[in-house]
Amino acid sequence: MVREVSCKKCQKNIRVHSWASDRVELAIEKGEDFSLVCKSCGATNKYNVNDVWADTNKLFDLIFIILLIVIEVLGGYLLISSYSRSTLYLVYLIPVALSMPLLLYFVYRNSENKKVTIFNGYRK
Ligand SMILES: [Zn+2]
Repeated sequence: MVREVSCKKCQKNIRVHSWASDRVELAIEKGEDFSLVCKSCGATNKYNVNDVWADTNKLFDLIFIILLIVIEVLGGYLLISSYSRSTLYLVYLIPVALSMPLLLYFVYRNSENKKVTIFNGYRK
């Protein structure tokens, strides 16, 4: 999960570096109002914790998806080659191994979405 505010000058998103899971924690960590420097235009402005919103981490999503494709392709290749070698054990094991990263991804996405909803749902 990432926390962002919209720059008051150029409207670009500024990342708020914090581990806070809601605005109450964020206020404890940074104070009700805090200053941020925009990386795009260099303007320093004061922001309120209610200006901050949460979103899922797109970069992490991308890394996970790339990793998933690599695992699936590798696993698929192993599955095909094991069919020809008729190793019964592997034939049953590989589909399970293939579905694991996918399952992990859905569990991760689900918890991320919940965290984002909690953060955005409560205003101080
Ligand atoms: Zn700006």
